Amino acid sequence: MIRQLGGWMKMGIAINNAKIKNTGIFLAICLLIPFASISWADDVAVSNTIKGKADSAPKFIYLTFDDGPLKGSNDVSEAVELEKIKINVFVVGSHLKAGPRMRGYFELYTKNPYIEIGNHSYSHAHDSYSLFYSKPELAYDDFLYNADILKLKNKLARLPGRNMWRLKNRSIDDVKSGSKTADLLYSKGYTVFGWDLEWRHDRITAVPVQTVEDMVYLIDTMFAKKKTVTENHIVILCHDEMFMTSWEESKLKELIEKLIASGNFRFEHLSNYPQ
Ligand SMILES: [Zn+2]
Repeated sequence: MIRQLGGWMKMGIAINNAKIKNTGIFLAICLLIPFASISWADDVAVSNTIKGKADSAPKFIYLTFDDGPLKGSNDVSEAVELEKIKINVFVVGSHLKAGPRMRGYFELYTKNPYIEIGNHSYSHAHDSYSLFYSKPELAYDDFLYNADILKLKNKLARLPGRNMWRLKNRSIDDVKSGSKTADLLYSKGYTVFGWDLEWRHDRITAVPVQTVEDMVYLIDTMFAKKKTVTENHIVILCHDEMFMTSWEESKLKELIEKLIASGNFRFEHLSNYPQ
């Protein structure tokens, strides 16, 4: 009903827009009323969705964790096993060089049935993104090397430092540099995933920036306003190091449990992302 109202109001705006050139200030004032109403209707739509009343279509959440294995990978692995939810990790092979602890964390990933492992390059672009992407063939080789040494089973990729997507039906770039590497990966059979929403963290303390409540609100708002790449599907970017706490105190646990309790959300693997 609210959507319908929004549609009628939009029609009202179109009609008013056509007349306004001829009828002057009076209609211009009338025009302001539907604008105010639309913003009100949108807010109600968002707030109703948060309460689970408006749109009953299932909503799919893809929790993705970049840059592992890292400190915190063991906590994430344990978390998803306890909650029995599917997640994706995008791994960086060079992190295994740090020693047996990181190799052990990678083992945890490979043995965990709730975790699907994707490729985030071997070197993480040496954190010099523009230089790395200036040579797309070398960048692609870095991904290939990562897949070889880690024996990655699927062809899911995420570019370091870039929010780029290469799906069967869509190609999205956040910036230009990296675009050719994404194309090359896609031409070699990779699906490249960016993200719809990032759960950001403090670079020094690794503590999550947005609260759990902020995240639930943002997820709901993006679904309600159809701001995700694919309607009813949201890809969320996190990093393992954000959750270096016991499971009982974990913000990740809190988010997962709030999402499960608040609506008809399903956690899925990116290999099942529609395209
Ligand atoms: Zn990364």
